[in-house]
Amino acid sequence: MAKKKPTTESKAEDAPPQASAEYTVLARRYRPQQFADLIGQEAVAQALMNALESGRVAHAYLFTGARGVGKTSAARILAKALNCEKGPTTKPCDKCEICQAIASGEDTDVLEIDGASNNSVDNIRENEGKSVDALFRDMFRAEPMEGGEW
Ligand SMILES: [Zn+2]
Repeated sequence: MAKKKPTTESKAEDAPPQASAEYTVLARRYRPQQFADLIGQEAVAQALMNALESGRVAHAYLFTGARGVGKTSAARILAKALNCEKGPTTKPCDKCEICQAIASGEDTDVLEIDGASNNSVDNIRENEGKSVDALFRDMFRAEPMEGGEW
């Protein structure tokens, strides 16, 4: 049986849809960007805003809870609030380079640690070593540790 030569038209149909430059994954597109957007976590948002307004931000914060309650979102918003060019502020601008880098998870000083695969004492020691390195750009370092639910 002779193999049918594919036409350029069928090739185009078989090709995977091209990702547009506008495409962002759902978790990024719908992740709350301001404390006011943290639905269901109003008390947490208020406590963090009070700390920012009074200039009494603790050295570390531990966000706990089930999947999807807003731990990562709260940590990223706090990181933006502390490091925004217009900050520290309770309303990060979302426009400056730092805010945008943190929102997209690409900021050099906001290191998201995968706790599910970094859960040994040696891993913690290794990460501790990294955290004392000089900051690249931001005033505050944020290290949200993901999957650290024990
Ligand atoms: Zn900003």
